[in-house]
Amino acid sequence: MEVPLDKNHEYWMSLAIEEALKAQAIGEVPIGAVIVKDGEIIGRGYNLRETTHDATAHAEMIAIREASERLGAWRLLGCTLYVTLEPCPMCAGAIVQGRVPLVVYGTPDPKAGCAGTLMNLLQEPRFNHRTELIEGVMQEECANLLSDFFRGLRQRLKERKMLSKENESAAETSVQVPEDPFSPSGLGSSLPK
Ligand SMILES: [Zn+2]
Repeated sequence: MEVPLDKNHEYWMSLAIEEALKAQAIGEVPIGAVIVKDGEIIGRGYNLRETTHDATAHAEMIAIREASERLGAWRLLGCTLYVTLEPCPMCAGAIVQGRVPLVVYGTPDPKAGCAGTLMNLLQEPRFNHRTELIEGVMQEECANLLSDFFRGLRQRLKERKMLSKENESAAETSVQVPEDPFSPSGLGSSLPK
């Protein structure tokens, strides 16, 4: 099927969502990104923080590295970065460093968003580069990905708790409780006690 060059923002965001689903499939928080230049994807990435034990393995960082390699340049001229969640300070910094002209994001991040929610590093007038910004593209889909993921996680933690209570009453029977891919401490205070 031939796809027109002026594919709209929803089209590219749906491909960023596909990246997010790859993260979800391996137990990572579902966040995905793609970088588009001249109607073509030149970088893609999804959150790999747990898998790689790397705090910098955010979807945008991975996509930026791939795009830079593909272009043979650190300046991502003429590129648009699509990401399902508002960029954090690190990724916003990398976007400014890479001179990305346009960022399109899905849903705001009230805890780390640095594209207008907590601060706006993408459009800070004192920096030498400012990025155009479009927010809220496929917001509901992007937000649901995250809320469904965390709901599932809370459910699994709850079931694990119940299971370990049953084990206590069964005295010596040592049923192995499967390890949750995320340690509760790693998830911070967002989970209910
Ligand atoms: Zn980030």
